[in-house]
Amino acid sequence: MTEPTRAVTNWARTITYTAGEFHRPDSLDALRALVAKSAKVRVLGSGHSFNRIADPGGEGVLLSLAALPPVVDVDTAARTARVSGGVRYAELARTLHAHGLALPNMASLPHISVAGSVATGTHGSGVGNGSLAAPVREVELITADGSTVTIARGDARFGGAVTSLGALGVVTALTLDLEPSYEVEQHVFTELPLAGLDYETVAGAAYSVSLFTDWREPGFRQVWVKRRTDQAPVDFPWAGPATEAMHPVPGMPGVNCTEQFGVPGPWHERLPHFRAEFTPSSGEESQSEYLMPRSTALDVLHALDGIRSAFAGVLQTCEVRTIAADAQWLSPAHGRDSVAVHFTWIADAAAVLPVVGLVEQALEPFDPRPHWGKVFTMPAAAVRGRYARLADFRALAGTLDPTGTFANAFVRDVLGD
Ligand SMILES: Cc1cc2nc3c(=O)[nH]c(=O)nc-3n(C[C@H](O)[C@H](O)[C@H](O)COP(=O)(O)OP(=O)(O)OC[C@H]3O[C@@H](n4cnc5c(N)ncnc54)[C@H](O)[C@@H]3O)c2cc1C
Repeated sequence: MTEPTRAVTNWARTITYTAGEFHRPDSLDALRALVAKSAKVRVLGSGHSFNRIADPGGEGVLLSLAALPPVVDVDTAARTARVSGGVRYAELARTLHAHGLALPNMASLPHISVAGSVATGTHGSGVGNGSLAAPVREVELITADGSTVTIARGDARFGGAVTSLGALGVVTALTLDLEPSYEVEQHVFTELPLAGLDYETVAGAAYSVSLFTDWREPGFRQVWVKRRTDQAPVDFPWAGPATEAMHPVPGMPGVNCTEQFGVPGPWHERLPHFRAEFTPSSGEESQSEYLMPRSTALDVLHALDGIRSAFAGVLQTCEVRTIAADAQWLSPAHGRDSVAVHFTWIADAAAVLPVVGLVEQALEPFDPRPHWGKVFTMPAAAVRGRYARLADFRALAGTLDPTGTFANAFVRDVLGD
């Protein structure tokens, strides 16, 4: 199916893709044929990125996999699931839970596609939890000539294959490692001071911990603490419990968010902040996020506190999370346990972009790696310098995609081609 591209935007409607053609093939054969005859191709997942990472440019073809038959093949004995390229976490999680199985973690929302999320290093929180790419054990790709390539954990190419920015080919399926289903209870606390904060202890107080602030004053307005019921009870003496259902964005209704007040529930209905059936976040926004070594977290927070009056006016909310180190060459958490500082900005690019630059300046001493799916302004050369295995990724892209069919301006910039 071909559709005019002028109407195709990202979820936030902050990006209109410039592709010459937009297709939604309804079979793998049609997809393969389209790829084989196109010189420039990018895949659009669920469109939740905030920059041009998915845009093939004016000469290119933008592909959505949303019309392909969705596949979630669960192998309960092996505790794995093979998931097709267009599937979103909400439907995946429901199916896994029905089989008594679970993912180790989720992002703040279940609306996003699995393939698009792991391509950008999307993550949730937890000092022991890797990014959403961590459970991926195998990737199936359609490469530029229409052939299929499978890369499994243990293959020398695997380090580049999952968090790949969509630069290697069309991901038609991912196989994920699972664990037995578990329950989580969610507690929200309010008003955690920055002064005297023991970040390591707070971040490790439960399976997944997120701090939120609007930076209008020092300290954190909310702390979201997600405890697995098979782990120790939460002891959180540093802030008081919330008395009403909270939303991370001030003024938004708590009913849009997953159940709080310590009511136990299935993992997929507690680990995301936002319920699948509501608009996540505020909907009128852009976002930025930077990952730094977790050991610098307190210095990072004080550095931001020092300039908060310069950016609080265009900020809706800021979230601070942790991610365990991983081995994906282009993962923003590559090789280092990380703290991630996320900013939900107001939907006013002219006001926000200069502020993003100021925040990046303040974070510069901490070796920040920007989230691949969010807004950043730091020079590509600076970003490149933060990835020790970039040359390996460039070589892999050169082998799997020698014609550069899947390299758009964003990817060329990052790889320095
Ligand atoms: C409200 C909101 C909340 C968010 N919360 C979080 C969060 O908690 N944690 C976090 O880390 N991020 C978060 N994000 C960012 C989001 O997770 C990422 O931008 C992610 O990439 C979105 O997945 P997508 O499928 O929408 O990707 P898209 O924007 O559609 O695509 C992202 C990249 O993946 C590629 N791609 C997608 N599908 C395929 C495929 N099948 N084959 C090859 N390449 C493919 C695209 O070409 C593109 O390069 C949030 C975003 C929003 C809007």
